[in-house]
Amino acid sequence: MRNVPVHTALYAIEAASIASNRTFMIMPDTALSAFSLPPAGALGAEIMARADKLAEASEGGPGVTRLVCSPEQALAYEFIRGWMEAAGMTTRIDDVGNLVGRYEGEKPGQPALMTGSHQDTVRQGGRYDGMLGFLVPISAVGALNRAGVRLPFAIEILIFADEEGVRYSTSLFASQAIAGTFDMKVLEEMDENGISLREALTDFGCNPDNIPQIRRQKHDALGFFEVHIEQGPVLEAKNLPVGVVTAIAGADRLNLTVLGMAGHAGTVPMKQRHDALAAAAEMVLAVERVVSAHPGMVGTVGRLETLPGAINVIPGEVRFTIDLRGPEDTRRKALRAELLAELEAIAEKRGVTLNHTLIYEMPATPCSASMIGQVEAAVRSVGVEPLHLYSGAGHDTMAMADLTQVGMLFVRCNRGISHNPAESITAEDADVAARVWLNFALNFSAA
Ligand SMILES: [Zn+2]
Repeated sequence: MRNVPVHTALYAIEAASIASNRTFMIMPDTALSAFSLPPAGALGAEIMARADKLAEASEGGPGVTRLVCSPEQALAYEFIRGWMEAAGMTTRIDDVGNLVGRYEGEKPGQPALMTGSHQDTVRQGGRYDGMLGFLVPISAVGALNRAGVRLPFAIEILIFADEEGVRYSTSLFASQAIAGTFDMKVLEEMDENGISLREALTDFGCNPDNIPQIRRQKHDALGFFEVHIEQGPVLEAKNLPVGVVTAIAGADRLNLTVLGMAGHAGTVPMKQRHDALAAAAEMVLAVERVVSAHPGMVGTVGRLETLPGAINVIPGEVRFTIDLRGPEDTRRKALRAELLAELEAIAEKRGVTLNHTLIYEMPATPCSASMIGQVEAAVRSVGVEPLHLYSGAGHDTMAMADLTQVGMLFVRCNRGISHNPAESITAEDADVAARVWLNFALNFSAA
């Protein structure tokens, strides 16, 4: 039976073989022990223990440092392969270095519900960013396997070789290879030691020339579901263990230059100045004010440079940047226009010139309505109010959206800290995520 709504706080599975066709039902939690599924809490403990073990696959220094095509990645794969095989999955490493685990459905070769995340970290990062996205489903599939449950589709856990873009500056190339959007030019990119990605992959045992064949067909993928730590403080503030992601924000990046008039700090009267920095300062505050009036949007001036930058010279030129993000492209573009009009008005009022260039534009990645609804139902089924939120950070889901419908679950992390050795989550929240994942998979419908 598919699409059985789960109303109980705990999941439970009854597997039954009817003729040659295996099927399952969701049962009240009294059925739990009959199929030796772990009690509530056990999956969380397993996930945390494995995250700790994986953290051993790291360069020295604080936190976790695991870059693409490194001995640390190879060691991590050794651990993960063991866990996946113990969960009844077959495993293989593809030619871009992704580790792919597959749990067959009722019949071999069925299309797959895909899930997973990245294995790599930033330098001195944490042990959950990325890792949670495959440790949760590995533990969940292990529970299915122990209960003898096969679904009417396969499950593939994709462990992406690289998402952070640390060793090579292109991020997401590993998931792009699966989605069929990999740019072969990326292979010629060099790391800081002059080793190309092509060489690094070859040394890792891959054949980069075969990357175009990694591409998966749309009919092989029923959807992609990524579990990830929130990397922000919203869930913690709402006292919720998990949240339903509706979209990954799109982003605009702009370079701006304010041209005023440099002059002697001692001789030019205040009223006759065209101080580029004073104008830019007003503009920075305008970014904060204008963006704040648009709920859900964020805008940041992250860099500001004053020329000539001397203590006794009125600034003649200021260069600064704006990073603007939001979950909907039309709203983000409208906000960008509103913001630039506001900054132009400030420039005019202050007698300075403003130049601006859009240097980067990334459209938002909406999760499909069907996936959002199914993640929401799975969250509700474990007794958690399904809060909708969007991701301000990029994820492999963005690349996978070119292949199939996507959905994401965020897991609360302590104080929203990530990309930091202090990144942390609780075993209880990991357990909730695993139960949400199981409920999602058990009730999943590709329609
Ligand atoms: Zn991540």
